[in-house]
Amino acid sequence: MICPECHAEYLDHIKECGDCKLTLVDACVIDLPIPEMTWAALPPFQGKIYADMAAEILDNHDIAYYLKMNWSSSAFVIEAASLPGDVVRIFVPKSSLEKATELVGNITENNA
Ligand SMILES: [Zn+2]
Repeated sequence: MICPECHAEYLDHIKECGDCKLTLVDACVIDLPIPEMTWAALPPFQGKIYADMAAEILDNHDIAYYLKMNWSSSAFVIEAASLPGDVVRIFVPKSSLEKATELVGNITENNA
């Protein structure tokens, strides 16, 4: 569960943010703008400037996406620890993943 105001994360059984006194919402409401769509992650971008470049390309090709800053899931934590600065993940609809990966491929390669 996540507080809609301060975005603090709580365990599922907690219903109210201790700081803001607001009703918590399901994490996926914030993480997934279109819940019925299956999202897939592009390779991580090191630094928001690269993510912005990729976002612009996706915009130009009418591919839906959303950004997630400072990715810190347990699956990614080892890789993230070796990268300095902000790590940005871009999520695209799974049906557009192949095209999106191709479109932003140059950015992620130069980004290494
Ligand atoms: Zn809060």
